Amino acid sequence: MTEAAQQTDVVIIGAGPTGLFAVFELGLNDMKCHLIDILDRPGGQCAELYPEKPIYDIPAIPMCTGQELTDRLMEQIKPFHPVFHLSQMAEKIEKQEDGSWNVTTDRGTLINCKVVVVAAGGGSFVPKKPPIKGIEEYEGISLFYAVKKMEQFRGKSVVIAGGGDSALDWVVNLQPIVKELTLIHRRDDFRAAPDTVAKMRALVAEKKMTLKIAQITSLKGQGSQIEALKLKDETGEYEYPCDTLLAFYGLTMKLGPVATFGMEFQNEVIPVNTATFETSVPGVFAIGDINTYPGKMKLILSGFHEAALMSKKAFEYVHPGRKYRFQYTTSSSDLQNKLGVEEKQEQAA
Ligand SMILES: Cc1cc2nc3c(=O)[nH]c(=O)nc-3n(C[C@H](O)[C@H](O)[C@H](O)COP(=O)(O)OP(=O)(O)OC[C@H]3O[C@@H](n4cnc5c(N)ncnc54)[C@H](O)[C@@H]3O)c2cc1C
Repeated sequence: MTEAAQQTDVVIIGAGPTGLFAVFELGLNDMKCHLIDILDRPGGQCAELYPEKPIYDIPAIPMCTGQELTDRLMEQIKPFHPVFHLSQMAEKIEKQEDGSWNVTTDRGTLINCKVVVVAAGGGSFVPKKPPIKGIEEYEGISLFYAVKKMEQFRGKSVVIAGGGDSALDWVVNLQPIVKELTLIHRRDDFRAAPDTVAKMRALVAEKKMTLKIAQITSLKGQGSQIEALKLKDETGEYEYPCDTLLAFYGLTMKLGPVATFGMEFQNEVIPVNTATFETSVPGVFAIGDINTYPGKMKLILSGFHEAALMSKKAFEYVHPGRKYRFQYTTSSSDLQNKLGVEEKQEQAA
């Protein structure tokens, strides 16, 4: 169900490093932002694909991890109070008669704005599905790739499949409310944070859950309701009863709904004007990995530069009639006020 429209100046689709830095550049020019991301946290590829890997080519930061970069960007944009709509897919953008845009998500969130910024990177992250025949029949009823509401699983016999952070985090979080819980992984070695793995092993030792080293080969059920999983391990194949399967086999990137937004595409990326980073649709911009132009390099620093130029042009749509003023953060008291610099200095003193 679609809610009443929320109002803002700019909707940014994608909360990767580029989308996050865009909040800063837009904020300096008096534009408020909402961000939408299908992931359950900001950071895009940096947070999802390489949170602990070092990055060496962020200007003036000799080394930081993907997660540290995300944390620093989140800190930097705090003064502008961006509104995040996480775990939601931006599905549709529609131009209104007054020139504004309505952006709708798959969870019914409706946002009205003056400018849309597509910072969708390599596309939206979607779950990798296990190669099991007929799996679609159970999806959304008794098979899930994400937990959107924990209460949905209260009192259920749940099997969680996977060995990464998502699988292990949900083992720890869901154990207190489900009837029976089993974690299934193909080997007794987990990629998840050691602390969460230790918590899972403690639950197993206390007989509060079961750990099975096996592979799921098929699903058995009635209609869309799972009744048992067929498992294979070194002892052979056997049925394992349960009513809910949560499969966490990682994520992959797919272009997704942005392909239907109406702007020109070339080989799954969006051509832009390099003076403004506007797409073929006026008022819709594309920055970061999702865009293309002669000489484009898919680097984080390219996305940062593109965000600054985009913000200058977006200002014309959001503040028609107002003159854009180029200012340095070092010397402009106006920009420093927006950043709350004096307040921060007082707190530090
Ligand atoms: C292993 C690895 C190492 C790397 N190392 C470096 C490095 O050292 N230096 C460097 O500069 N770059 C590096 N990169 C590349 C860098 O991560 C990307 O250039 C950068 O993440 C692009 O940022 P972005 O914000 O444009 O896109 P992304 O980080 O891809 O973020 C886009 C976000 O948009 C979301 N999204 C897309 N469509 C939708 C939709 N319809 N609805 C909701 N959400 C949507 C996605 O879920 C995603 O979170 C590396 C990449 C990888 C994979």
